[in-house]
Parts: sequence; structure tokens; C-alpha cells
Amino acid sequence: MFLSNIRIVLVRPTHPGNVGATARAMKNMSLNHLYLVAPEDFPSTDATDRAVGADDVLENAVICASLDEALKDCHLVIGTSARQRRIEWPSLDPESSAHRLVDGAQLGPVALLFGQERTGLLNAELDRCHFVATIPADRNYSSLNLACAVQILAYEIHRAGLSGSSATLVDSVEGDRPASDEDMQRFYRHLEEALQQIGFLDPANPRRLMRRLMRLFNRVVLDRNEMNILRGILTAVQQHREKFDKNDQE
Ligand code: SAH
Repeated sequence: MFLSNIRIVLVRPTHPGNVGATARAMKNMSLNHLYLVAPEDFPSTDATDRAVGADDVLENAVICASLDEALKDCHLVIGTSARQRRIEWPSLDPESSAHRLVDGAQLGPVALLFGQERTGLLNAELDRCHFVATIPADRNYSSLNLACAVQILAYEIHRAGLSGSSATLVDSVEGDRPASDEDMQRFYRHLEEALQQIGFLDPANPRRLMRRLMRLFNRVVLDRNEMNILRGILTAVQQHREKFDKNDQE
């Protein structure tokens, strides 16, 4: 079992009661790694009261200032959202999400993200996700309480863990380790810079194109070797462009 590689990440939670109830929901389902990104009110007695016996999960919670910090070494990130988006992220139901996470956890840390009670996950936060999981619910009232949403996904992860999920992901990645979120963010910055240099990306409006490209790369689990090849291509394009610019000035 690789459940210890699965981290539950609450992004900017506002109510400490929800943080406590999340810890309890996790511990019931054998999940222990809670990450809190910029929590509004933590530690708090409200959180401890609601954790009822899962205080250890709260005590060991990792507090991060930014999402970068929480996802740094993760090679698979699944976000959760009740809402349909304009540019859709590839979406999964809770059961398939759980299987992906359990499979992915065999290779290293993976993350399941939950949004803030009021706003949910922002688009920039969803850009970090390979998939978005939605719990099917009433069409006109689909937003669950944060800790209730955690409970449903945690239950599915527990079930997927017990059913001994397939090792498809392990088989598909030959040799090299999958690229981490930190590697991918570095790659996206490089890609954005190179696309601007060759005049393909409008610096005044970079988000739309970058979002589409991120979705494209998120669909493929790149390993580190493949990512290095792509970065090598970008560097070669940049050097070619610099030479071209220099010749042009002479
Ligand atoms: N007003 C927000 C709701 C946030 S609810 C919005 O419209 O997005 C807080 C968090 O609980 C969400 O960010 C998500 O992580 C989780 N959540 C709530 N309902 C969900 C659902 N039906 N499916 C998946 N996640 C859900």
C-alpha cells in the first residue's frame, strides 16, 4: 500500500472546523498526510475539537505559504471542483480519481487539492492539476461542504487501495521518474519565455495559450528524460533566435 504518498491539500481554508473534520475524515480512511496552504486560522481549538481523535493528523499537518511549496515533489495533482469551467480541465469521477492517485502513489508523492469554502479552487490553481474530480450531485445545488467532499474522495481512495489498484502507471513509465510539479513549472516558464522570444506568444495576453499548453502536457505524464529533451529543444530554439537577431542587427 502506498497511501502514505497521497497528500490531501486544503488550499486557503477559512474555517478551522473544516480543517478538523478533514483530519477526521482522512484518518478514518487511513490517510495521514494533510497539507494546508495559507490557512486563515490554524492551529485552532475549533479544528482540534472537530478532529475528535485525529489530532495526530492535525499535529503533523504541513503548513505551506504557497501551493508551489505543497506540490513541489508531486508528479500527479488532481483538483476537485463542483463547477463546470469555460475551458474544461480533463475531468474524472471520484472512483477513477482514486485509482489514479493510488496507482500514481506507487511512483512517489501525489496530491488531491480542495479549494477554499467561498471561492473553490481558482483557475490558476486548477492549472496545476492533471485532472479535476467532480462529485456528482444535484444540478442546482452541487457544492458540498469542504470536509464532506474530502470524506467522499478519501473513501474512494481507501476502497481503491484495498482493491489493489492496477500497476498501469508503473508499467508505462520506463526507467526514468515522472517529472515533478516543480520540474513542470520550470518547464512552463522556459516554454513561455521561448514562445515570447520567437513572437508566438503575446506577452499582453499569455494566460490563454499557456493554459491550453499546460492542459496538453498535463494529459501526458512526462518523465524527467522527456522533459529534459523538450527543454533542450527550447534552448536550441532560443539560441537560434539570438543568432538570428544578432545577424539582423549587423
Ligand atoms: N463556491 C465554491 C464552493 C467551494 S466548496 C465553488 O463554487 O467552487 C469547497 C471545496 O469543496 C471545493 O473547492 C472542492 O474542493 C470541494 N467540493 C465541494 N463540492 C464538490 C463537488 N461536488 N465535487 C468535487 N469537489 C467538491
